[in-house]
Amino acid sequence: MADQIDLRSDTVTQPTDAMRRAMADAVVGDDDYGEDPTVRALEEAFAERVGKPAALFVPSGTMANQIALRVLGSPGTTAVAGRRQHVVAYEYGAAAWNSGVQFHTLDDDDGMLDPAEVQWVRQASQDHQPAVSLISIENTHMAASGAPWSMPQLIALASAAGDVPIHLDGARLFNAEAATGVPAAAWAAHATTVMCCLSKALCAPVGSLLGGPEDVITQGRLERKRLGGGMRQAGVLAAPGLLALTQMVERLPEDHARASRLAEAVARRWPDGGLDPSSVRTNIVTFAHAQPDKLLAHLEDHGVLAGTIAPRTVRLVTHRDVDDAGVERAITALAGAPESGGR
Ligand SMILES: *Cc1c(COP(=O)(O)O)cnc(C)c1O
Repeated sequence: MADQIDLRSDTVTQPTDAMRRAMADAVVGDDDYGEDPTVRALEEAFAERVGKPAALFVPSGTMANQIALRVLGSPGTTAVAGRRQHVVAYEYGAAAWNSGVQFHTLDDDDGMLDPAEVQWVRQASQDHQPAVSLISIENTHMAASGAPWSMPQLIALASAAGDVPIHLDGARLFNAEAATGVPAAAWAAHATTVMCCLSKALCAPVGSLLGGPEDVITQGRLERKRLGGGMRQAGVLAAPGLLALTQMVERLPEDHARASRLAEAVARRWPDGGLDPSSVRTNIVTFAHAQPDKLLAHLEDHGVLAGTIAPRTVRLVTHRDVDDAGVERAITALAGAPESGGR
């Protein structure tokens, strides 16, 4: 159906007309030789935006996370992370495959890690347990209904981390900025490396960035090549990426307002389902449902696409290609959903 309302992910966003024009007009060179001026401009713009000395353009957020693990981690050491984070749960075991790090996972029900638990894991290395080489956090946290971190808690975490580097998986860092008013650079100041996806709510067709210290990014460039992510005339992708960074952040509150309305509709339909609409502050709604297959089929019959992220867990994501009318249609479809919700 041509006019389906696609709430499966913000990755489905189409590049804007301006992005397509920028792609056609991009000045390019061989980026593997460091000769693509548009890629360089994007890397510099991102580094400045997140307050880091250097940045690296990579094909995907997954690769940015994997590069961070390879540079900051080492085989046989521990990476501390939330058990529902992307780097733990949604990268097909890539950390074990690519870096040989072992995750020590912590509860991340509200999207954040408990500084006291992080301190415990670090101390345990004195008691015959593996050394901690890095801590990975996610802001916004996808599985926690896109929850942004709280700054006081991040400051406490950074203090508990001591000299252990923090990697910030900021696939949707600009959604955190838009929801909290805390600039991306202020979040990133507490991390050694920061990654961000341009290909999600920011509507670029392809690409993510990893920011960090010069030496980390220089090593990261080598790891990108090892992982097969070196690109040539990649300026055609960096050009829409620059527009993503400079023009698409300001409209994110629209997506957040629409997600909030969807969350209210979910809570109305399943009052005992455990979703508190006020917890939805960005563009993602996740909720428990006893029979997701039936719910998804019902929604699809009404022209609405949704997805699941775990057993009995449904996800709706708003983005630029879903307008108010689309959200109204989804709300109507949710109201008429026949199957039980809840856990
Ligand atoms: C989407 C996502 C990634 C990975 O990005 P891809 O470009 O899809 O590989 C990493 N972390 C989080 C939190 C994400 O949502």
